[in-house]
Amino acid sequence: MRPVVGATAAAGALVLTATAAAANADAPTPAPAYSQTRCGNTSDRTLLTFDDWSYKDPYRTIRIGAYLRSQGIRAAFFLINEQAEEHPDIVSTLRQQGHYVGNHTYSHQHLSRLTEDEAVAEIGNGVRSNLLRPPYGDFGERETTIADALGYRMCTWTVDTLDWEETDGGFRSTESIRATVREAPEEDKRGGVVLGHLDYHYPDAVPGIVADLTAEGYALCRNTGPVGATAPFPLDCG
Ligand SMILES: [Zn+2]
Repeated sequence: MRPVVGATAAAGALVLTATAAAANADAPTPAPAYSQTRCGNTSDRTLLTFDDWSYKDPYRTIRIGAYLRSQGIRAAFFLINEQAEEHPDIVSTLRQQGHYVGNHTYSHQHLSRLTEDEAVAEIGNGVRSNLLRPPYGDFGERETTIADALGYRMCTWTVDTLDWEETDGGFRSTESIRATVREAPEEDKRGGVVLGHLDYHYPDAVPGIVADLTAEGYALCRNTGPVGATAPFPLDCG
């Protein structure tokens, strides 16, 4: 008897599976899960991101923004608001150029080392947006909860250019930064997020990075025109 019972159960399971599949065909596609390291980018395009501030030449930032727009690329900038608040035109110009401008806190502290009130102030006084890039990638459950309460999603990265590293008495060269991206794993680049900083050699490496990614068959987030202060989820990259 047992083999017969087993066969009946198996047939029943098949019917149930088929019924479930038919029901799923009519159901709306479930929303994709938010990935902190991909910042809500659910496309297969790569998002370039630029952190901190260009101290010696603040307007270098909008020249980078103009270059990216000329290439049809949308990027994201995470500016330190202690500087950015002195230059609201830079923030508005970047958004007009079609780039997201997110919160990188007020004065770039390690959030986990602050009291709760201090962390709330650092985030709350950052560039008003809905994406938060925690300085040094330093955050835990407490910081995530604070960010969430203030209306922010954490946004880190999948490819770190390490452009801040010093080698041979200077910061890493454009060629070295470019090579780091070129050698990054495919899954970190496709639909991924590249991190670099405005005050190192990363901006000068970007044309080479764009050329390499394109030659390797990747596409960059597409610039479809001006954006507002908040970024949609999924990110508008395609
Ligand atoms: Zn930073």
